[in-house]
Amino acid sequence: METTTSEKRGRGNKTVLVKEVTCVVCNGSFPYKTVELTDELMGKVSEIPNFSWSCDDCLIHVKNLKVYNELNAKQREMKEELVGLKVKSNEMVKEISVLSDKNEKKFIALQSAIVDISKDLKASLNKSWAEVAGEMKNKVQEVNREVSTICKTIEKTSDGIKINNDLEERMHNIIIYQLKQCKDNDKVICNSHDRKQILEICSQLSDGYIKESSIKSIFRLGVRSDKVRPVMVKFYDKRDRNIVMENLKKIKGLSSSLRCIGVNYDLNKEQRDVFSVVL
Ligand SMILES: [Zn+2]
Repeated sequence: METTTSEKRGRGNKTVLVKEVTCVVCNGSFPYKTVELTDELMGKVSEIPNFSWSCDDCLIHVKNLKVYNELNAKQREMKEELVGLKVKSNEMVKEISVLSDKNEKKFIALQSAIVDISKDLKASLNKSWAEVAGEMKNKVQEVNREVSTICKTIEKTSDGIKINNDLEERMHNIIIYQLKQCKDNDKVICNSHDRKQILEICSQLSDGYIKESSIKSIFRLGVRSDKVRPVMVKFYDKRDRNIVMENLKKIKGLSSSLRCIGVNYDLNKEQRDVFSVVL
């Protein structure tokens, strides 16, 4: 703390020595009395090098300096924080740009998908009614074709069933050719005559096994004419027919009026064709 002594004019124009203290800031000198310092106090502290004194005016500045220093420190802290924030914000910017890049790609994909959909929609809307009607017609035709294929399959199947039924029925039958016809005009008499002859034939060929009850029906085929019409004989049991067919060699042992007959299976057209080829 700096102190000086200066001469001042006192009462009665006497010269007095006045001790003064120097302001550390403005270098102004202030007498002890005016700034409430005493010799005793100054004697104790004036020699301590770290003690300093400032006038009232400068003290404000000194206090301000303290505030300034604090502010400075705060500013430094803030600067550091700001640097940290800048680093952080740079990282965030990077993250955001990566995210937005991803989102942009997604967005572009979505956009192109939407464009595709709207193109399709537009295309389908642009289809003329004629085209739509044409497509419908084609589809209907397609369905019709399928239905007719199915119908044909059903027909074939039912034809097959019919053929099988027909063949099964024919397996109960024989046809007798050249069996002399009754000349009577009465149908009932003719039928009874035929029946009698057929029974004799069947009985003889089966050694008496086939009875009248074995025969379901007997009738002449074709329209009445001078020619001898073949006779259809239907058995209840096809085994009876087989017995007859297996014993045709016995025909030559029949009575003279019956010996000239011919006996055959009841064949459908296809079977007859095959037979004629074989024969
Ligand atoms: Zn000062």
